[in-house]
Amino acid sequence: MKCYFGGSSLEGLDYEFRSICFAENLEQAKQLIWRFGDVHEDCDSEYIYLRVIRRPEHDDMFGKDGRKDAHVVTDRGVYREMGWSVECDEHCDGCGLATMDGDFPLCDECEMCDECGHEDDCPNLNQSETEAA
Ligand SMILES: [Zn+2]
Ligand SMILES: [Zn+2]
Repeated sequence: MKCYFGGSSLEGLDYEFRSICFAENLEQAKQLIWRFGDVHEDCDSEYIYLRVIRRPEHDDMFGKDGRKDAHVVTDRGVYREMGWSVECDEHCDGCGLATMDGDFPLCDECEMCDECGHEDDCPNLNQSETEAA
């Protein structure tokens, strides 16, 4: 499966792309994104404004959300790993990835995500051990 980003060709929008899709080809990606993606508002509900582009650098993310078929991605973790973010998101000091509206929270002290852990001098460094005890 190939990775595609879908958005609108209209100008002046907040986001260049709205949905991520895995499909066999561009035509299938366009149909899926138009049916299941979050693009209608940005496209003024006109299919002719739909813009879908190939992003081969993300092909290896296929299957990360457990899906093995052509589909529009709904898993926020996949969007995050491709560098997407939600409005007002914070970004991890370590990996630079977004919090996705709180799905991937950062440490209050060192602003790192769970995957990155904590800074060496972070006051919350031993928090996980404390919780386990
Ligand atoms: Zn991180
Ligand atoms: Zn921390």
